[in-house]
Amino acid sequence: MRDPAQVAENAPEEPEDLNPYRIAQAQFDLACAHLPEIEPDLMLMLSRPRRTITLEFPVEMAGGEVRMFTAYRVLHSRVRGPGKGGLRFHPDVTEDEVRALASWMTWKCAVADVPFGGAKGGIVCDPAQLTEADLRHITRRFIVELGEDIGPQTDIPAPDINTNPRTMAWIYDTYDLLHPGQNNLPAVTGKPLDMGGSEGRLEATGRGVLDVTQEVLAQGLIPGLSSVSGARVVVQGFGNVGSAVATLFAKAGARVIGVSDVEGGIFSESGIDLEAVQSHVHDTGAVVGVAGTTTVSNEQLLEIPCDILVPAAVGGQIHRENARKIEARLIVEGANGPTTPAADRILMERGIPVVPDILANAGGVVVSYFEWVQNTENEQWDLDEVNEKLRRKLLRATDKVISKRAELERNLPTIRESLADVAAHRVVREIPIDTVSLRTAAYAIAISRLAAVVEERGIWP
Ligand code: NAD
Repeated sequence: MRDPAQVAENAPEEPEDLNPYRIAQAQFDLACAHLPEIEPDLMLMLSRPRRTITLEFPVEMAGGEVRMFTAYRVLHSRVRGPGKGGLRFHPDVTEDEVRALASWMTWKCAVADVPFGGAKGGIVCDPAQLTEADLRHITRRFIVELGEDIGPQTDIPAPDINTNPRTMAWIYDTYDLLHPGQNNLPAVTGKPLDMGGSEGRLEATGRGVLDVTQEVLAQGLIPGLSSVSGARVVVQGFGNVGSAVATLFAKAGARVIGVSDVEGGIFSESGIDLEAVQSHVHDTGAVVGVAGTTTVSNEQLLEIPCDILVPAAVGGQIHRENARKIEARLIVEGANGPTTPAADRILMERGIPVVPDILANAGGVVVSYFEWVQNTENEQWDLDEVNEKLRRKLLRATDKVISKRAELERNLPTIRESLADVAAHRVVREIPIDTVSLRTAAYAIAISRLAAVVEERGIWP
């Protein structure tokens, strides 16, 4: 078993290890410590990505020059169904980031109980510097290069950072041209509504964040805060997820006092007019500058005193250096991997619960699954049906995570005793005296669900 302490407890003078894959592994290992019934060999098998594809391909750009692009598609697991996961365009994409994101998809699908495995893709590029035609050519070439490695029953892409329904339409069209004569709609989700997309998919991740938060509050995790209504909320990131979170929380009666994007943030104690933000973003491309708001940096935004903080931008935002400065009562991870293990530990010591990404932002993949089902059955469900089915699935998942946490906390003395045998294993130090995080509980559910399926299926040959 790897040693999560290497990630979470570096000596103070050493910089914190922010490698997303090692962070994901550390989270996994911490949960494994609570699951002594699962064999270490099986744990190892479940943790490793099944396949990592690295591509280098040329694209002729709008200006006529030819540029090389690097791209990845990682299939982490197909134990519970075809791989499922978004595609991101970002200059900082790395193989390890995509491997981490693919593994989080595996655990997320298992926590939400949708019959998919985990996958993810990333193309190293900066969309802000590219024309729409460039992006279309890059997307199409990527799908051609992947060939038979994606498909409705093998690995199904979806939107992520800097990709959207239009990107998914290009993916569908390319895949469909290469596979004529069959129903290719389920090969990709997050498509535009008029070409097989699902009602509610665009805002599904944000809606899921709201559903999960409402349930966590209804279950009494934050004393004195039983609903988002009246809560002061800060959201980092104003893209697909962040803008939907801000809008839906406000509709549910919350006061959104801070939002941000990559350029910076805005703050207003009396609440931000989100329609004004939307139109400002439409006109200028950024949130900074909305009338009646104060400009803050992204670092300052995270430290605004509030009831609920929703990081909904990129990974690694809440870390060892700023976790003590967070003044939220609850953190709900709209983004993937926004909190490092060291920050998790600090927040736990400070009594600030973190609703983990693999539960909090599962709404996107749940409605992607609904889209896949509708495409397969040639059906179109209406919005109320989608939203109600989504809410039911996420409420069940949230309740399960909360009850699993209580169960793991009851088991803690036994676990500590059994780990003590493993000669002062540093994992023991990772387990706080009397608490278990919601992240560890969610992982424990996911790992157990995969382990059960592997036991049933067996390993061939
Ligand atoms: P997006 O590209 O639509 O929006 C990203 C937002 O984050 C933009 O407002 C951007 O300006 C901002 N941003 C980028 N870098 C930043 C930084 N360093 N500091 C502050 N803000 C920054 O992407 P999205 O689809 O909304 O995804 C956001 C996060 O949610 C990602 O972590 C993604 O993996 C996760 N997620 C997305 C979905 C989905 O359905 N789109 C589902 C689950 C999880």
